[in-house]
Amino acid sequence: MSTDMSTVVIVGAGQAGGETALALRQQGYAGRIVLIGEETHPPYRRPPLSKTYLNGELAAAALLLRSEEAYATAGIELMLGRQVEAIARNDRTVICKDGATLHYDHLVLATGGQVRKLALPGSDAPNVYYLRTIADARRLREALAPGRRVVVVGGGYVGLEVAASAAKAGAQVTVLEGASRLLARVAGAELSVFFETLHRAHGVDIQTGVAVSGFEFKDGKVVSVLAGGRAFTADCVIVGIGLIPGTALAENAGLEVSDGIVVDEFARTGDERIYAVGDCARHFHPALGRSVRLESVPSASEMAKAAASAIVGKPKPISAVPWFWSDQFGIKLQMAGMPEGHDAFVERRAPGSAAFSLCYLREGQLIAVASVNAPLDFQAARELIARKLPVNALTLADTATPLRNAL
Ligand code: FAD
Repeated sequence: MSTDMSTVVIVGAGQAGGETALALRQQGYAGRIVLIGEETHPPYRRPPLSKTYLNGELAAAALLLRSEEAYATAGIELMLGRQVEAIARNDRTVICKDGATLHYDHLVLATGGQVRKLALPGSDAPNVYYLRTIADARRLREALAPGRRVVVVGGGYVGLEVAASAAKAGAQVTVLEGASRLLARVAGAELSVFFETLHRAHGVDIQTGVAVSGFEFKDGKVVSVLAGGRAFTADCVIVGIGLIPGTALAENAGLEVSDGIVVDEFARTGDERIYAVGDCARHFHPALGRSVRLESVPSASEMAKAAASAIVGKPKPISAVPWFWSDQFGIKLQMAGMPEGHDAFVERRAPGSAAFSLCYLREGQLIAVASVNAPLDFQAARELIARKLPVNALTLADTATPLRNAL
């Protein structure tokens, strides 16, 4: 029997919280682990919510990170359907909304975030949808059907994935994006053009530079979406305009917050007993030399491992090159690194090929890549970025030679 009487409490049973609990056990933590989540499901993967789950290709059970039994076997206590309301740092206690309290030796905040909502006339109507949870995806799935007119507000990854799934379901889809191009916050102009062309080729109407100003109703159902002096008719509207990080608990407990709970490269907050991981956290990234808040599964996994290793006394900093993927209309996009400040750009594409990689360089080093249906190039490029190896534009452009030869 374990003699370790310490307790790790993890608030938020999502990707990052679930992975932290599992990583603690994998790294030999022998004390008590309690994973508290306000949703009623054990930790699940959100990426399929806008893709295969929305399309009905994936069953809900396949979303789960692990079965409930697997947590029991690993000695991880799941407290689901329960919301943590406050942290009493002096007593090292969390306080739940139902009054329950729990002592911790280490606390991990994995609270994700809430979808950013529109505050416009009519935006609280029942046929205006958001997508973050299984429950949201279920509701949305019912609203998508052949012939339905769907307006997607927001041309970021979630918006575009939902648009692709809706088009696949036979809906007539219009995407309204306020910026002058799609994916403006998260990708270079080349990728924006690629996705705009891809969506148009599948019949999606893309409107950029249009700010939505409100919604009008007829028969309590059909809506007109008002944007830039024009009206778009729709049976339902899906809004994907980003996430507000879940920082309230940390802020109220006096921890530093700046668009995310501020943590170091070991996922530690200013309180040595408290960590933050996943979408809610802004961490210092040694390779980038600055702090970042990333909303991605790979980042949640990295931070979970870093927090677990620090808690078991063998700290390993977050070091992996940030990466992300997206699936739309059978296209697999994989991106790694950060293109900001690049001084050279190379498109690696064999003549006539639909697969390609966009390569961003700075001072003779690859700093970011975006690959479309090119997984081998992506793997090699990711390693080139991580190892900071010198590479020249000719090597990158030479599709006759595998990119891994540059390693
Ligand atoms: P979450 O998974 O949101 O988990 C946080 C949990 O904490 C929630 O269940 C919440 O209810 C709970 N919680 C919050 N506050 C409290 C409290 N006070 N008490 C108790 N519980 C609380 N990433 C990719 O890399 N690739 C993709 O293709 C991709 N697609 C996506 C598609 C969609 C539709 C969405 C929504 C996200 C997608 N992401 C994708 C992002 C990815 O899913 C997130 O980065 C990841 O889920 C972050 O995990 P997390 O644990 O930080 O947050």
